[in-house]
Amino acid sequence: MSLNQVDQRDLYRCVNCGNCRSVCPTFEQTGRESKNTRGRILIIRDVFEGKLDDVSVFDSINTCTTCGCCTAACPAGVHPPDLVEGARSGLATEGKMTPTQMKIRDTVLQYSNTLADAGPRLGWLEGTGLIPPKNPKAVYFVGCLDTYRYPETAVNTYKILNKMGVGLLSDEKCCASPLLRLGFVKEATALKNHNIDQIKKSGADTIIAGCAGCYNTLKNNYESDGVSVVTVSEYLAAHLDGLKKAGLGKLDLKITYHDPCHSGRHNNIFDEPRALIYEIVGRNNLIEMAAAREKSRCCGGGGGVRSGYGDLSLAMAKRRLEDVPKGVDYIVTTCPLCLRNLRDAGDDIPVIDLVELISMANEKKSR
Ligand code: SF4
Ligand code: SF4
Repeated sequence: MSLNQVDQRDLYRCVNCGNCRSVCPTFEQTGRESKNTRGRILIIRDVFEGKLDDVSVFDSINTCTTCGCCTAACPAGVHPPDLVEGARSGLATEGKMTPTQMKIRDTVLQYSNTLADAGPRLGWLEGTGLIPPKNPKAVYFVGCLDTYRYPETAVNTYKILNKMGVGLLSDEKCCASPLLRLGFVKEATALKNHNIDQIKKSGADTIIAGCAGCYNTLKNNYESDGVSVVTVSEYLAAHLDGLKKAGLGKLDLKITYHDPCHSGRHNNIFDEPRALIYEIVGRNNLIEMAAAREKSRCCGGGGGVRSGYGDLSLAMAKRRLEDVPKGVDYIVTTCPLCLRNLRDAGDDIPVIDLVELISMANEKKSR
């Protein structure tokens, strides 16, 4: 199995101290050494050195959600999620992959989305009366999940952004995150190039991503020079005055906030969503989870784990819900994948996107 130089360096930089074990959410659920960071690194090392060539390695490597909890805990400066993705890529290049990986790859390549949905990408816009402006400075990148599964979030997000002069790509396709996270680096190129071309054609210098996974991918895996990539919460927090002028009411609610791994721990977007929540419910009514910000627990949905290991994924989501403080009215997040996994874990407290909270506050003001 081949690995790039950076991953090789990390492979031998790991001193097997095990600091990462206590924070790894898959170890917390399984108690298995092969399902924690250190065990994964030892297995990747053996595969890299040609000592292990067995399909059992997949369950170790593919159960990693790429949450990044381990990166912060590592005293040796190893980046295990990158290493895991590198190993997945090295194996996939040799044609070694699970049926789930194959299915996700084929679906994304056939439909340009993760959901095997042949419907129009801008279907959610129909009937809204919203007209994207020509030559916008910024465009909203909707993402597959909000486009096809949570169109109400896409509509509510764009109702707000459209008033601020934000446009849309005329032919957005999957950002290729599922391919990249599962190791299909080469296969991701065409989708990336298509979206880069669309961004260039739009003339915008800012991309506003509605999903933490899209955001991380557009920001860190795209070669689109001169274009800045921000989350919806970053954009709205930077335009808070405009948001207030357009009518942002106050809500008498208690809220908790779930930090998505790929916007939070991976990219340090912690303050902006909180600034918006403070504005709507007041600082004292945002009650933090038992593990928040950098220490936030993973929802269990990322890295292809939800698709490949549904029971494990759901167990992690249920564990995350144990962190929710008592007495809150809503669990707010900023990623549709987290939202879906936490909703499926079946707690009584509704899980909503931050944009839904903003929409409620807008409605309150306009009444
Ligand atoms: S990225 Fe998350 S799931 Fe993967 S090894 Fe690190 S802590 Fe465990
Ligand atoms: S904390 Fe870092 S050095 Fe220690 S076992 Fe985990 S990855 Fe290796």
